[in-house]
Amino acid sequence: MDFAPDSTAHEITERARTFLTEHVLPAEPILDQQLAAAPEDWAVKPIVRDLQQKARDESLWNLFLPGENGAGLTNLQYAPVAEVTGWSQRLAPVAFNCAAPDTGNMEVLNDFGTPAQKEQWLEPLMSAEIRSSFCMTEPDTASSDATNIGTRIRRDGDHYIVSGRKWWSTGAMNPDAAIFIVMGKTDPDADRHRQQSMILVPRDSPGVRTVRPLSVFGYDDRDHGGHAEIAFDDVRVPAANLIAGEGDGFAIAQARLGPGRIHHCMRALGTGERALALMSTRANERHAFGRSLAEQGVVREWAAEGRFQLEALRLLVLKTAWLMDTAGNRQAMTEIQAIKIAVPRAVQTIIDRAIQVHGAAGVSSDTPLAELYAGVRSLRIADGPDEVHLSSLGRAELRPRPSL
Ligand SMILES: Cc1cc2nc3c(=O)[nH]c(=O)nc-3n(C[C@H](O)[C@H](O)[C@H](O)COP(=O)(O)OP(=O)(O)OC[C@H]3O[C@@H](n4cnc5c(N)ncnc54)[C@H](O)[C@@H]3O)c2cc1C
Repeated sequence: MDFAPDSTAHEITERARTFLTEHVLPAEPILDQQLAAAPEDWAVKPIVRDLQQKARDESLWNLFLPGENGAGLTNLQYAPVAEVTGWSQRLAPVAFNCAAPDTGNMEVLNDFGTPAQKEQWLEPLMSAEIRSSFCMTEPDTASSDATNIGTRIRRDGDHYIVSGRKWWSTGAMNPDAAIFIVMGKTDPDADRHRQQSMILVPRDSPGVRTVRPLSVFGYDDRDHGGHAEIAFDDVRVPAANLIAGEGDGFAIAQARLGPGRIHHCMRALGTGERALALMSTRANERHAFGRSLAEQGVVREWAAEGRFQLEALRLLVLKTAWLMDTAGNRQAMTEIQAIKIAVPRAVQTIIDRAIQVHGAAGVSSDTPLAELYAGVRSLRIADGPDEVHLSSLGRAELRPRPSL
């Protein structure tokens, strides 16, 4: 196993890092100003468009997508680039057209879409002309178990009729989110994992209704297009909008979530690095009881623990990426679950301690820490709560083994 970045990964990562420091980090206060100037507006802000144009010009675009349709990077090559973007979760992933949920939706269309679906939806997503949402979670069912899903997709001649209610559809408050991938049941009597299907629902279809935005610890996440509750009131879409076949929804969801989870973890490492860097700067600047905070034993311990946790978890993320590249996503399932639990937990603690070192400033919006905390805390629920992954990982670990 050799996880060192090869020359391609090294070169792109260095360019991404330069782009981050020269363009993205200085753009964060500009984004704040543009958001404040238009409090009711969920559309992509001009500063994001500017960054996207610059990133495209520098070929820092669609780097997440392996294979010939994307930038062609392997997961192992993409990992350090994604980590760089995690320093500014608000701006860098979207600047590079590498932000969830569009990335997962593009992967679904790339891997399972028909040529017509690709032309209509994948191409404008790849050029960031439109945005998209993924609508799986429902207010009325425990959605960590996707077999619970209640939304119905009924065949009616050469159409399907979609009926149900979804929430936490990230990005859907953005009016540019033109297409929703909706998961529902086509056959509630089929085998448990063959009841679900996925279908493309254009947002302008009659019967699609945005009910309300949801906030995360009070943050509206307008920089990500927010999170919406959406009603699908007997929405009629052409049968050709079904992705793959009836009953394939569960398998597509599994395929979508693997890469999505590792991308979250790659970026979260960068977020942890930023929190450690902020902690270090503050600890050196601030003095209490006759010495700098950096000279206090407990702060040193926090810094040391943060460092070795990030180093160890980075290796596990890289191993997972390498396994996905060499053995396939399915074979990397155990590792994907492990990092999905371990990385957000560790980064949450790192950010929490960085907040503590900042004192009251840490819980204010004068530093990015509070918002970073909200993001990484919700990651312990989004894309499957910790407990679901722990249960499955534990079951695999406790599988009877040959006697020693
Ligand atoms: C910021 C954010 C963005 C999101 N974006 C999207 C999106 O774009 N699209 C989308 O469809 N969804 C999205 N979600 C929703 C997310 O994927 C779901 O919230 C998640 O799958 C859990 O479903 P639930 O909320 O219904 O929790 P439930 O299924 O009700 O579970 C509640 C709790 O029960 C416990 N639990 C569940 N199963 C087990 C078990 N096997 N063992 C032990 N305990 C268990 C866990 O503690 C869990 O947190 C997002 C969520 C957040 C917070």
